[in-house]
Amino acid sequence: MTAASLAYRGRPVIVGAGVGGLMTALELAPRPVVVLSKAPLGAEGSTLWAQGGMAAALGPDDEPALHAADTMAAGDGLCYSAIVDRFVRAAPIAIEKLARLGVRFDRGLDGAFALGLEAAHSRSRIAHVGGDGAGRELMRALIAATRARPSIAILEVFEARRLLVEDNVVRGLIAIGPSGPAVFATDKVVIATGGIGGLYAESTNPLSSFGQGLALAARAGAVLADMEFVQFHPTALDVPIRPVPLVSEAVRGEGAKLINERGERFMAEIPGAELAPRDVVARAIWRLRASGGRAFLDARAAIGEEFAARFPAIATACYAAGIDPAREPIPVRPAQHYHMGGIAVDAEGRSSVKGLWACGEAASTGLHGANRLASNSLAEAAVDAAIVARSIDGAKSRALAPPRLSSASRAADPAPIRPILSRAAGVARDGETLAAAIGPLAEMATSNGDAADPAAVALMIAVAALRREHSLGAHCRTDFPAAPAARVRSRLTLDEAFAAPAYAPPIRIRRA
Ligand SMILES: Cc1cc2nc3c(=O)[nH]c(=O)nc-3n(C[C@H](O)[C@H](O)[C@H](O)COP(=O)(O)OP(=O)(O)OC[C@H]3O[C@@H](n4cnc5c(N)ncnc54)[C@H](O)[C@@H]3O)c2cc1C
Repeated sequence: MTAASLAYRGRPVIVGAGVGGLMTALELAPRPVVVLSKAPLGAEGSTLWAQGGMAAALGPDDEPALHAADTMAAGDGLCYSAIVDRFVRAAPIAIEKLARLGVRFDRGLDGAFALGLEAAHSRSRIAHVGGDGAGRELMRALIAATRARPSIAILEVFEARRLLVEDNVVRGLIAIGPSGPAVFATDKVVIATGGIGGLYAESTNPLSSFGQGLALAARAGAVLADMEFVQFHPTALDVPIRPVPLVSEAVRGEGAKLINERGERFMAEIPGAELAPRDVVARAIWRLRASGGRAFLDARAAIGEEFAARFPAIATACYAAGIDPAREPIPVRPAQHYHMGGIAVDAEGRSSVKGLWACGEAASTGLHGANRLASNSLAEAAVDAAIVARSIDGAKSRALAPPRLSSASRAADPAPIRPILSRAAGVARDGETLAAAIGPLAEMATSNGDAADPAAVALMIAVAALRREHSLGAHCRTDFPAAPAARVRSRLTLDEAFAAPAYAPPIRIRRA
């Protein structure tokens, strides 16, 4: 153990410093807690990049039941209704709490939240900041608030590499810090490591978001849920820049239209048109491109010269790519954006491993079903942080045994995974391509190579996608286009993924 980790013996450890991790730490204050951030605070993570804002029934014409209905419809019948009901009632409270913490949401002259409209929402209910700068402002305020709480120890440039688990109980965690390995003796760990976009060749996520928390939990034997449900944002900028810059749904919410290379609207006949759920729009653009066409978002008539003032971050990304969104259609394409799947958690945010919680995008709560409704994720993380903190507060502390030292895994490199997963588990999938991906992914996941952990997560996505022989929400099987008779969430452990029929493991998998 290093001096740093000894000093924090017995404290809950939160892995990740986006909205999920920092809000959980704040909710736990003044209870002492450690937050590990693999990068300097505020330098990494999807929260920083969020554009549109946070969804909640805040307007006079809105109510939680309407927000719930929209969430369930977008989720294609796979959402847990009890979780949805709890979320829509708690989201306005969470946003008010963030405002009290110092987040400067855009407001009207009367002081009420200015609310934007996004796809598949029946009301304007997106609380935004500076037009398209919600994430930056959220992180600014959360970092200031966490730094001001002496009970929160923030360890920057500490990367969690292994959970120490005995008999399905958390005993500690190994991280690599600036001075080498550090072992944290703790019986309470929260995974808040964000999404998986870095496992894909084309994603809107930071490259550093590649499901490290899912690998930690999976290697510790935790059940993961709905891994096959990966959301592709329909309107990423179609330019050779990685990660792919996002053109927020709010632009379509303001009236921008999707057109093909001949200038024709191709969503006009589809229910919801440009504001249909993300999976519907992403598939329409995918089909257009598969038949040799190209898609553009035309904001000239609806927004025009106002574009840079209304959407400064998106305008900057367009200018960098040589596009003037006020005067020309913006080329767009689908790109991986969000993961509905993740660590399976119960209503308190607890995983199947005792002492292990998950919050934010790394958790799979059942809220999003088969397809997340736009702007529900920041709000979900803020709501669930309070739930996880309450659960941790109420959890029994276990006698701390000195954690058994075992080797931390090496620094992970997801690069070899990207072409395999992108080909097999993209907007549209088929059994043959998925089955072909499973062997190479399983080989890499069982190796001692740098790609082992990313491969384990990708393997679980591929196996879950292969097993789900129908199309539902964001999971589109070209060989099984029909919807299922019954909507059932999927659950999978890493051992089960290795035992998938398409692959028999050559080596027994060692757990943490
Ligand atoms: C471009 C873009 C725009 C978006 N716009 C919106 C929006 O408008 N509204 C909305 O609701 N959602 C939006 N989303 C989704 C939303 O931003 C994310 O789902 C949410 O921010 C996830 O928060 P999080 O706390 O779970 O993870 P993140 O914010 O991604 O934070 C993860 C943290 O974990 C750390 N970490 C990872 N692995 C380790 C490790 N091994 N050890 C230590 N630390 C680790 C990272 O450094 C980071 O601090 C957007 C996403 C993107 C990419």
